[in-house]
Amino acid sequence: EERNRDTEEKSKELQRVKVSLEAQAEELKLSSKYKSEFLANMSHELRTPLNSILILSEMLSDQTETGLSSEQQEFARVINTSGQDLLSLINDILDLSKVEVGKLDVVFEETNLSELPDSLVRNFEHVAAKKGLDFTVKKDKNVPDIFFTDQQRFQQILKNLLSNAIKFTEKGSVSVHIKLAEEEKVAQFINTSGANNWVEIKVTDTGIGIPKEKQEQIFESFQQVNGATMRKYGGTGLGLSICREFAKLLGGWVIVDSEEGRGSEFTLFIPSLPQGVNSENNTAAQI
Ligand code: ADP
Repeated sequence: EERNRDTEEKSKELQRVKVSLEAQAEELKLSSKYKSEFLANMSHELRTPLNSILILSEMLSDQTETGLSSEQQEFARVINTSGQDLLSLINDILDLSKVEVGKLDVVFEETNLSELPDSLVRNFEHVAAKKGLDFTVKKDKNVPDIFFTDQQRFQQILKNLLSNAIKFTEKGSVSVHIKLAEEEKVAQFINTSGANNWVEIKVTDTGIGIPKEKQEQIFESFQQVNGATMRKYGGTGLGLSICREFAKLLGGWVIVDSEEGRGSEFTLFIPSLPQGVNSENNTAAQI
């Protein structure tokens, strides 16, 4: 009987702990939601005045009739570039907080991948060449051209991966390979149910690389390999968390493989159809 009472006491105690933990978890969830909502509202409010700064500083730096000296026009240019940096930071924070509160709209639409290599070359060749880097894009013939994805989010993932690859590479090359992904490989990271074509887009560089122990951490918000990287290369540490969150929204995933001092390879897995949308009903889905 004594033992019975003991067990009963213990189970009551456990129940109390469970209830209190659940309450704490609920509280945390709520405060995280408030934080995200606050960030989303604040970011929105910041964009309006920033737009005036951007437009007016651009006018000052461009026009010959402003009566400004060339040095003053140069100052206006600096104001404009700093403003643009601030705007992209605000946009990143806004996107991430929207993802957190589940308010980021994703619009799946027909996307033709046949134009992807040319557009990547057009957009990144110039910046790569400026640093003396080789830039190549290769797409395997068996990759289907038609995909249903959110073009804007998809482009943003690639933009972030490629800007990083170019930013963290001093010499050598940056290359992109678009190929069919084997389902078993994808299944290691994502629940791949139903018939779907998967592609992997590999962004490979011969840059500074990432130490093994940091390779997961860099996908978290505001995480960089170290303070020195931040001072030397700038950036905010938001680019890769956006890549992961957006890839997730598109039904895919991003992974990294890298060796310090030798280079990195980021792989984006993406389905040709968003998960859960079947091929008979794939016009445009909003989640
Ligand atoms: P940011 O580049 O703005 O700092 P990211 O989230 O895009 O933020 O990247 C986080 C960190 O991961 C970077 O600061 C850098 O330390 C590391 N990193 C990302 N991409 C590469 C790359 N291609 N080569 C080496 N390090 C990288």
